[in-house]
Amino acid sequence: MTSVDTPHNARPVGVRWREEVRRLVKRRDAVVLAHNYQLPEIQDVADFTGDSLALSRIAAGSNASTTVFCGVHFMAETAKLLAPDKTVLIPDARAGCSLADSITAEQLRDWKAQHPTAAVVSYVNTTADVKAETDICCTSSNAVDVIASIPPHQDILFCPDKFLGAHVRRETGRTNIRVWDGECHVHAGINGAELNQRVSANPGAELFVHPECGCATSALYLAGEGILPPEQVNILSTGDMVRRARSTRASTVLVATEIGMLHQLRKVAPDVDFRPVNDEASCRYMKMITPAALLRSLREGTDEVRIDPRIAARARESVQRMIRIGEPGGGE
Ligand code: SF4
Repeated sequence: MTSVDTPHNARPVGVRWREEVRRLVKRRDAVVLAHNYQLPEIQDVADFTGDSLALSRIAAGSNASTTVFCGVHFMAETAKLLAPDKTVLIPDARAGCSLADSITAEQLRDWKAQHPTAAVVSYVNTTADVKAETDICCTSSNAVDVIASIPPHQDILFCPDKFLGAHVRRETGRTNIRVWDGECHVHAGINGAELNQRVSANPGAELFVHPECGCATSALYLAGEGILPPEQVNILSTGDMVRRARSTRASTVLVATEIGMLHQLRKVAPDVDFRPVNDEASCRYMKMITPAALLRSLREGTDEVRIDPRIAARARESVQRMIRIGEPGGGE
């Protein structure tokens, strides 16, 4: 059996590690939340697994005084925004996000100054500082509804993801949406060429595609051209992928998103053959939350997420405006 006293970057998995985690969770009066892209052992030891927004809402509704958020930093920040009176820990605060980092609050302020009458819509994959400069947040599930809530004549600044922005433009048909040129390095790496190759090699397979992917346009093109029946192409958030996996009748599903997602899909639908479109699409930030880091977090109460109260109040308002519009579904 593997010792629990392993270096920070090692992966101590086993019954003792799991028991120690659960014992510390109880002692700290904590709830452990794991994003769908986390390592399988982290997903399996967590109290809840899901997409970023669903987890933040669980944090807000939980009776536990401490939330341990196993995901990347902007997700733990969102949990803190929705549960400001609780202690929120992330096992390694260095777990960032290339998409969230693709726009800063200063860059957004400059963009707003160039378009002073535009409404700002930001994907939830943004820092609290950027959310504080935002009129309304959106998830990949509700981005179209959020855009529809803004008067048709009003210009919109959409950030930070260019692929999700293109998806929203396509779906709404609006031409007055300016899209920031940001991307996630993992999802951008899942491209149309790979998708076409996998589709040809797996005739009859259903497609689950995250809208941040570089291949989302290709998936819609394949459906539009009749190469794939439209009902076989599903553009889904990670939470919606889990829901769709429960009901699919397909024997094979090609999955275009970060590969950690496959663990949950295979758990909820073990008879379905889930195959990654790109089996190297792994987020190094998500994988910084190691079993050893989780143990350290629970033992030492690290790393605590803190947000300047003035920033938090404005950022929270942009998230709550989105929630008021209706069912926000899931984030990434
Ligand atoms: S997969 Fe991409 S968007 Fe998601 S946390 Fe990693 S870098 Fe950010």
